[in-house]
Amino acid sequence: MDTTKQKLSTPCFILDEEELVRNINEFRTALESRFKSAVIGYSVKTNSLPAVLQIAKDHGCYAEVVSYHEYSLALRVGFDKRHIIYNGPLKSKETFLQAVKNGAIVNVECWREIEWLRELPHDQHYKVGIRLNINISKVSPEDADGPDDDNRFGFSYESGDFGRAVDDILAIDNIKIVGIHTHREPKTRSVGFYKRVIAYVSSIILDSKLNLSYWDLGGGFFGIMPGKPTYQQYVDGFYEAMPEKLRNIAIVVEPGNAVVASAFDYLMQVIDVKEHDGRYYVCTDGTRNDVDPFFHKSDYFKEFLLDDSKEHSLADNPQIVSGLSCLEYDRLFEMPKGSPKLICGDRILFHRVGAYTMTLSPLFIHYFPNVYLQQEGRYSLLREEWDVDQFIANNRY
Ligand SMILES: *Cc1c(COP(=O)(O)O)cnc(C)c1O
Repeated sequence: MDTTKQKLSTPCFILDEEELVRNINEFRTALESRFKSAVIGYSVKTNSLPAVLQIAKDHGCYAEVVSYHEYSLALRVGFDKRHIIYNGPLKSKETFLQAVKNGAIVNVECWREIEWLRELPHDQHYKVGIRLNINISKVSPEDADGPDDDNRFGFSYESGDFGRAVDDILAIDNIKIVGIHTHREPKTRSVGFYKRVIAYVSSIILDSKLNLSYWDLGGGFFGIMPGKPTYQQYVDGFYEAMPEKLRNIAIVVEPGNAVVASAFDYLMQVIDVKEHDGRYYVCTDGTRNDVDPFFHKSDYFKEFLLDDSKEHSLADNPQIVSGLSCLEYDRLFEMPKGSPKLICGDRILFHRVGAYTMTLSPLFIHYFPNVYLQQEGRYSLLREEWDVDQFIANNRY
């Protein structure tokens, strides 16, 4: 048993800085083995803890942001204005124009952004990228989640919107299109998906009048995980699928999950056990909202840290391990009859819970939990549990 972990106040997340850095560095090494120029834009929405953003920044990542709040957050944490990748429909006009003026990578997503571009001073030239719509069922049916795996984002080539958007932008005398953005997250996260996207998009680029300096392939990759594609395999796939003529283009990737998932653990403690209806109901001080906010996981990478100062018997009934919230469905997992019977003080550690957990966590009943930094077996607080002061901030009553 890791006695230090036993002392942390629960529930809490634990960030392993070394793991995050290793992931970023390995992804970069893979990209640099194939492409002359590559940028890693860390996807802020996947985990926007300021400490994570700072580590990403300090290890050469840009911040990939998808709202004006994330844009401001990235600047607050200290990202250079040129090291922002600004995507999505939730750009404000002010931050959009500021980003374009300051040389950020800005991928146009909406018609209104094209209108905003007209307002830039005409005595200077500016560069933007544009997002292309990727319908997985059409581009890579092998990877589709059902027959209609369509996409809400980007301009569609087939409908003619993409061509119209390109023409509208190029008609503005001081704006150049220098990049294309083709993010899409297939359920399979397969290497083949990216190869098929590259083949599809290449023919659009080569048929058009676009002369691009970057191709932003987006995110959606697996992190380092047994049996899953490695960063190198993804990058080799990009390179193989890329037509000769486009191989000099700068590659941008926007990993979130792939770099941050494995860097976080979550720790909870058993606070009560009841018995009825032929089952033990184990209540913890954690919540499923914190480890599976979509409520779709069937299991977790979990580890039991049993309180070995106490005797553990084998359970003569199944045990239902549940969370702190008052939601009936806040149940994490079930343990079959015959497993060690959990008792108050036992702890459960969940691994690989850094992606889409902290950012999707609701302020329901229990406010944001502690986050600790783990460095060489020592722990320090990165974020203190929110209390009522943070919760009522900005309220008038
Ligand atoms: C969500 C998102 C990402 C990151 O996706 P991951 O699956 O976390 O890698 C990258 N780019 C854009 C545009 C996104 O919306």
